[in-house]
Amino acid sequence: MIFYSTKTASLKASLEEAVFRSLPPDNGLYMPESIPKMSQEFLDIIENKSFKEIAVEITNTLLGDDISRKDIEKLIEDSYNFDAPVLKITADDYVLELFHGPSMAFKDFGARFMAALMSYFLVKSKKEIQILVATSGDTGGAVAQGFYKVPGISVTILYPSGKVSEIQEKQLTTLGHNVTALEVDGTFDDCQKLVKEAFLDTELTEKFNLASANSINIARLIPQSFYFFAAYAQLKKLGKPLVFSVPSGNFGNLSAGLLAYRMGLPVEHFIASTNLNNSVPRYLEEGTFEPHPSIETISNAMDVGNPSNFVRMIRFFGDDWNLVKEKISGYFFNDEETQESMREVFSNNNYVLCPHTAIAYRGLEEYRKNSGGNFTGVFLSTAHPAKFIDLVEETLGKPVEIPERLKLLLSIEKKSIKLKPVYSDFKELLFSKLSQ
Ligand SMILES: *Cc1c(COP(=O)(O)O)cnc(C)c1O
Repeated sequence: MIFYSTKTASLKASLEEAVFRSLPPDNGLYMPESIPKMSQEFLDIIENKSFKEIAVEITNTLLGDDISRKDIEKLIEDSYNFDAPVLKITADDYVLELFHGPSMAFKDFGARFMAALMSYFLVKSKKEIQILVATSGDTGGAVAQGFYKVPGISVTILYPSGKVSEIQEKQLTTLGHNVTALEVDGTFDDCQKLVKEAFLDTELTEKFNLASANSINIARLIPQSFYFFAAYAQLKKLGKPLVFSVPSGNFGNLSAGLLAYRMGLPVEHFIASTNLNNSVPRYLEEGTFEPHPSIETISNAMDVGNPSNFVRMIRFFGDDWNLVKEKISGYFFNDEETQESMREVFSNNNYVLCPHTAIAYRGLEEYRKNSGGNFTGVFLSTAHPAKFIDLVEETLGKPVEIPERLKLLLSIEKKSIKLKPVYSDFKELLFSKLSQ
């Protein structure tokens, strides 16, 4: 597959280049030059296929020119020991649970695949790389778990001390081996600044092979299309058109849904559901995109005022607002409405939603009211509610069950290296760590 930059159509890249660079040199986003369609034969029998079988077929259709089918099968086998089940919640609405991976959030689907794909290229070229990543919570956990013990790759994660939840911190700090956690005495922005400076420091980049695990990496986008197909496979028998509601921050998840749609997945409509960081719902309403500084909410993994995948999302429609809004509706909700939906679904349907998932649910309900359409609705559950246990228990006024593996995680002692947000300290630390 050949990729081009959204800023300069003539700027092309191979899969390997796009995966290791993350961003084209002109700071655009990589897009597939052409998007192949899944065969009708595949869609006709998709309900008989497992998640992994679906993932293999999609990867082979997209990347079959770059990787042999045998290697793709191994890559998928190594990436996914978890599933994406669909559960019935109301008469016509279903939840797609994307939290059964190691970090209990949907980012596992992207991170696991990216790690396996990078490792595939590194083993072939006998190279080693160092991943540097700053996290405000969920990304770090998925990256740490995704790259854990992957050959040829070591990972350094910077997180703001005291500003991530206990579970998120444990997911970063209890692995060891090739994963190092730096606990920065500062904010997420401080962490990000340190990482950015390292990538610009030629003394470092000449000596080491640094790479990022950025959420706009094409290797994270592609695998997120798998579960849209997997949802279709599970719901096809109902015989109604499908509508997906996606709780969104940087809009990687929704962009992956659009990739699936362009590959031939029958989707009637998408819903962009957000918190008060609503630049995309407003774009859909008004036709102008006005990013704003991030606003803090209880669905904090979606606190993004300037979504990094926006450009990619509209490129699927040739940047034509009229075409975008025909296919995507946007809704946004405040914290009170989010908590109201968490309580509603718990008392009516005995199902516990995380705040992000609650926004997706509410977006779907709103669309159902407005469209009156006869469709099967699917709202994506992007994280397990126990990841936000304090908020969830406070909202529902009831204790929430913690899964065994989270309890186990909480009992392991954290190991982090404390760091002041000072670049010279960070550099010294990187040098001594990476030179070992
Ligand atoms: C990252 C994240 C989101 C937002 O996903 P995008 O692809 O950035 O739109 C939603 N919910 C949770 C729990 C997340 O971790």
